[in-house]
Amino acid sequence: MPELPEMENYRLLLNQKISGHVIKDIEINRIKSINVAPEDFQEKVLSQKVVNIERKAKHLLFHLENGYILLLHLMLGGLMYYGSDDDKPKRTIQIQLSFGGETLFFIGLRLGYLHLYDEQGIKQELSHLGPEPLEQAFTLDLFLKMIEKKRGRLKAKLVDQQFISGIGNCYSDEICYHARILPIREISELTQGEAAQIYRSIKEVLQDALKHGGYIETPFFKDDALTGGFDSLCKVYDREGETCLRCGSKIKKEIISSRKVFYCTGCQK
Ligand SMILES: [Zn+2]
Repeated sequence: MPELPEMENYRLLLNQKISGHVIKDIEINRIKSINVAPEDFQEKVLSQKVVNIERKAKHLLFHLENGYILLLHLMLGGLMYYGSDDDKPKRTIQIQLSFGGETLFFIGLRLGYLHLYDEQGIKQELSHLGPEPLEQAFTLDLFLKMIEKKRGRLKAKLVDQQFISGIGNCYSDEICYHARILPIREISELTQGEAAQIYRSIKEVLQDALKHGGYIETPFFKDDALTGGFDSLCKVYDREGETCLRCGSKIKKEIISSRKVFYCTGCQK
């Protein structure tokens, strides 16, 4: 599932490609991917200029000139491609927004969606989200306060969107590996120093992943050399049985509350 770095990568690229451009055609192949009647969607979205694209947690918000907002969540397996019919991935397209010469394709939206809201509706929809980890307001003091008296495994807390926005299965494991702390640890048993290290690792890992275009391998457009660069840089995620690059032990996989957790018992304490 795309997480903060993947969605932020999409946001940066989308702003370059489509902000200021008018939506000239809409094709909806899967009605379940939208939350209003297709006619209503057409009426409010067609011929609108995309003013800008914003990210909140794992969502993207496409702000339209008429004040309406398209809220995208890719969930599991969703992705986007910007280009032409000739070079788009050979996959089922659920929704496409055409900008004249080129088209934005939404692919793999089985659980994912592109919902339409007004400003009030969007506020309600996103009101449960915790702080954004890459924003300046997310300080060490705030983080230490946030985990005070909290219970549960570190992994479960890191992926909790009400606790922190944008971290999922991949980056929670990468953050714990970077911090040399086991994701299965109880959050209430972390020392002050360990908690501070987790905080630093959250910032460093997410920034590094963003710099390398996240881990979703499908390019966003033709000749896109950035997107997916972090896939080969993941140290533990999806690497069960492989050798730890830091200590040589084998990477372990465990299932905790139906989530996969990857870690190294050799160098994570
Ligand atoms: Zn190791």
